[in-house]
Amino acid sequence: MQTLSIEQETNPWEAQAARFDFAAKKLNLDQGIWKVLRYPSREIIVHIPVTMDDGSIEVFTGYRVQHSIARGPAKGGIRYSPDVSLDEVRALASWMTWKCAVVNIPFGGAKGGVICNPKKMSQGELERVTRRYTAELIEFIGPEKDVPAPDMNTNEQTMAWIMDTYSMHMRQTVTSVVTGKPVNIGGSRGRTEATGRGVSVVCDEALKHLGIAVDGCRVIIQGFGNVGSNSAKLLQRKGYTIIGIAEWDGGLYNAKGIDIPALIEHRKNAGTINGFREAEAIDSAELLTRECEILIPAATENVITSRNADKIRCRILCEGANGPTTTVADEILGDKRVFIIPDILANAGGVTTSYFEWVQDRMGYFWTEAEVNQRLDSIMSESFRDVIAYAENHRVNNRIAAYMLAIDRVAYTTKQRGIYA
Ligand code: NAD
Repeated sequence: MQTLSIEQETNPWEAQAARFDFAAKKLNLDQGIWKVLRYPSREIIVHIPVTMDDGSIEVFTGYRVQHSIARGPAKGGIRYSPDVSLDEVRALASWMTWKCAVVNIPFGGAKGGVICNPKKMSQGELERVTRRYTAELIEFIGPEKDVPAPDMNTNEQTMAWIMDTYSMHMRQTVTSVVTGKPVNIGGSRGRTEATGRGVSVVCDEALKHLGIAVDGCRVIIQGFGNVGSNSAKLLQRKGYTIIGIAEWDGGLYNAKGIDIPALIEHRKNAGTINGFREAEAIDSAELLTRECEILIPAATENVITSRNADKIRCRILCEGANGPTTTVADEILGDKRVFIIPDILANAGGVTTSYFEWVQDRMGYFWTEAEVNQRLDSIMSESFRDVIAYAENHRVNNRIAAYMLAIDRVAYTTKQRGIYA
């Protein structure tokens, strides 16, 4: 077992790089290509001056990291949070490259972030931050260059502002510059639920693979935002029993199952999941250690670490969030024979439907929700089977298999394109 301080263990860039190195070694990757793929190809830092509502001027720091454009335009979300750091954005950009390659869509990887606290900002302030951030990045983004999308604390309104700002600079409406837009301005049907839908499809596949019945399958979910609430809703519809939901300010537990549409309604009215009567209140950290068949972290990074991994009691860990499990925790869970559906596979439903959105925008022809969902389901099922086959053939765990599959695909294109001198 490696001995790392908790700071080292929870550095997302180090975690990404460690897994990349391990998988690249297993692949016997050419040393030169190894160096090309290990580091992001471009990192942009911008300082964004914004006039606040009280007339004062604030300067926010923003990042956009493009890890790879080997397989197509860079693709990845933008998050707003006080905790955003360059290392985090770097890691997330690399994960996007691997994620797009796992599901075999023609994109590279990117990620963006702005250090700000959206909970303390008005809509007007958020709009001004978004527009100025977009303006600062104007020559680096575009339908053929880099296509942003929502992530934590950004949403379809944020994407509408980015699309409008970019379009004003281009003197024409360019819907395909971002994905995750409202449906009436070029968004795809099914995008909002897509990540949760993908999570539900890989859960189905995992149950089939392990011979576990849906009936009686208990699920605990951390995070009740876009990914968590949609995963919960769709899994419940399929017959899974959602016994626990953990949020940052408290958790809920009901062994018989929580009524998810009722909880969504409660959250909408109360602004929190707390106070929901049809479940008992429980400490969020404790909830993660309750027995269940499937645990879905769908909130943020580093929630399963050396500090709690030995207490986890699930059969399947399905990573809705990016980077929820540290490398040290991976080893502990491996010893406990937990079946991990790694983030770069489990939460790839969002970027897959983003790809569909980009395709539809460029065609100017829009699919029905049923068409989107059917295409998404088949890509997620096929990708799950590809990763499992890779794991079995190379005798590695699912996470390393997903990395190997992805690195192999990106390395192949990188070699084919050659190194421009
Ligand atoms: P979101 O902001 O909609 O929801 C996150 C939820 O998690 C919020 O309700 C928040 O209160 C809760 N939360 C935050 N910290 C928590 C903690 N420590 N404990 C419990 N709950 C906590 O964000 P989202 O879009 O659902 O994204 C969640 C994760 O999924 C992120 O890691 C994101 O990168 C990843 N992801 C999102 C998408 C997507 O399409 N939205 C796609 C792929 C991956």
